[in-house]
Amino acid sequence: MPPSDDLADNPVLAPWGDLRGGVPPFDRIETAHFIPALEAAMTEKRADVAAIADNPAPPTFANTLEALEASGPLLTRATRLLNIYASTMNTPAMREVETWSSPKLAALRDEITHNGALFARIEAVYEARETSGLTPEQQRLATVVYERFVRQGAALSAEDKHALADINQKLAGLYTRFSQNVLADEEGEALVVDKASDLAGLSHDQIDAAAAEAKARGLEGKWAFANTRSAMEPFLTFADNRTLREKAFRLFVSRGDHTAHDNTALIPEIMRLRAEKARLLGYPTFAHWIADGQMAKTPDAAMRLLGQVWGPARARVAEEVAEMTEIASAGGANEPIAPWDYRYYGEKVRKAKYDLDEAEVTPYLQLSKMLEGMFWAAGQLWGLEFRAIDDAPVYHPDVRVFEVTRAGRRVGLWYFDPFARAGKRSGAWMNEYRTQQRLGGQAVTPIISNNENYIPPGPGEPALISWTDCVTLFHEFGHGLHGLNSNVTYPTLAGTAVLRDFVELPSQLFEHWLPTRELLSRFAVHHQTGEPMPQALVDKVLRAENFHQGFKTVEYLSNALLDLKAHLLGAAPIEADAFEREGLAEIGMPPEMVLRHRLPHFLHMFSSEGYAAGYYNYIWADTLSADAAEAFAEAPGGFYDKATAKRLLDTVLSVGGSVEPAEAYRRFRGRDPGIDALMRDRGFAPAPG
Ligand SMILES: [Zn+2]
Repeated sequence: MPPSDDLADNPVLAPWGDLRGGVPPFDRIETAHFIPALEAAMTEKRADVAAIADNPAPPTFANTLEALEASGPLLTRATRLLNIYASTMNTPAMREVETWSSPKLAALRDEITHNGALFARIEAVYEARETSGLTPEQQRLATVVYERFVRQGAALSAEDKHALADINQKLAGLYTRFSQNVLADEEGEALVVDKASDLAGLSHDQIDAAAAEAKARGLEGKWAFANTRSAMEPFLTFADNRTLREKAFRLFVSRGDHTAHDNTALIPEIMRLRAEKARLLGYPTFAHWIADGQMAKTPDAAMRLLGQVWGPARARVAEEVAEMTEIASAGGANEPIAPWDYRYYGEKVRKAKYDLDEAEVTPYLQLSKMLEGMFWAAGQLWGLEFRAIDDAPVYHPDVRVFEVTRAGRRVGLWYFDPFARAGKRSGAWMNEYRTQQRLGGQAVTPIISNNENYIPPGPGEPALISWTDCVTLFHEFGHGLHGLNSNVTYPTLAGTAVLRDFVELPSQLFEHWLPTRELLSRFAVHHQTGEPMPQALVDKVLRAENFHQGFKTVEYLSNALLDLKAHLLGAAPIEADAFEREGLAEIGMPPEMVLRHRLPHFLHMFSSEGYAAGYYNYIWADTLSADAAEAFAEAPGGFYDKATAKRLLDTVLSVGGSVEPAEAYRRFRGRDPGIDALMRDRGFAPAPG
């Protein structure tokens, strides 16, 4: 009998038990459980919301907003699990679940937002928020929920609501197709190498991993490089064979672009629907609608920031290219630097200028020790302790689970899924399995996961990661700490539930602890000898920190600029190839570079509304994080200054969205941020004396 027949036993719906505050039952979940579970969960959510909307009693905070926070617990659990499986254990069957569920979930969201009786009650509570004896957090919840409903069209006419719901459903389907196409091109395609001589320049580890990849693809005796960032970037950095580098590059940048999984036709359709959506909601463009809900408030403010950094970043690229050209021609290569040369000659410059060899550093960067390092830093700063546990079920054997405590009391759980594999989306991200809250006086501890895509080590080998991988590790852990340190009452305001251009503050800030001497001297130890990284090598790493900042900044900014520009076009039709070509010419993209994400696989822009017209968020938040890092640098105890750490915890890390972000930042820093710290941090302006 299929497991879907008995809802009572469906693990996607079941409560998470008592073990360590409750853990997801990953040992019992199968793909077939999802559709029946989601159907039942959506039914429960509808009933809960109807009971709130149709309540004959006058609207109060408790019977409206608090009730809404508590509504649909089955749906909360089921969609969290759906997200976990869709992003880390995606199979053709799971893709069918997503294709089935995403328009239905979008429709349910709209049905709730567009429920006139419910909105009238929310509006009444919102209007009385200052006179009805609410706490500051309750007032904030009233504002956040009311504004969210209005932003999603709650105040529109019935006819416009209907049109909006129709658009949202179409968009949900298109977003799913877009992501699935990218995943299919990343998984399905690979660079296959037949001759060992073509592997010159690559490390033994890279070659072993490529042999294993080929074997997994039924190509034993050859070498394969998956069409993913984690496999392609190292190839482009180290492979001596220029023709193969070009081939790898072209494969990688063509994901979703007129391939078997073509996204180019979806782009104009998504853009047209978004423009129509913005018009219905009363905004001139989709970019205006997005910015209005963020710290930036207007696309102009975001564009201004991008513009301020673009010039210095582009000038730095010109310097980097000149350095690379010199090295290339000294080695007899006289062609101009092409995009498939940038990482390769960049690495050569790094070796020459900083005497820093990635292969010399990596043996000191053991994943297990770097985990200990970030746990140690979190302990020094916020008194957190992490202990590995083995009694919580996991969805894949790679996943490790840690219990997090402070002064002996459980703070939450942290799940870590480090390695790339088929069915796992690329990149790195933090995910909340369960959100911290104290609704109804009952304390719920958070369950947070961090997900990476490191190349798995060979059997019996230690997992060694690159410096860049370490930065990503610390970045995601910063998001994790934001979730774990959350200390609010209402889940809608908890942890990382903050404005999108604020959410990268804790993560980008935490990257600053990696290069601290305190941490590296303890945890960057050689995997064979156990010796700490020699001080001279640490110094070299620190000096090289801003290496290729021109490249990194331009690669990112060009995407952010195109994302905003496209969404400012309004209803004008957009053709992906032409828009990209003309847009890059207009901003003066250096010919040696391409976008970090070309439009046909630009997931931030086209896989959801999370970062659409909001890819600028990263640099917006980086003005905050660079400025916040200087608060530590200036403190008596530097990056381990207890008072500054406590202030960060109290004003930012623990408050989630319960305080308006600009105000939260002001409470931490004593003033608004400026752009100067960012320019210093990237090496575009002199460091303070
Ligand atoms: Zn992030």
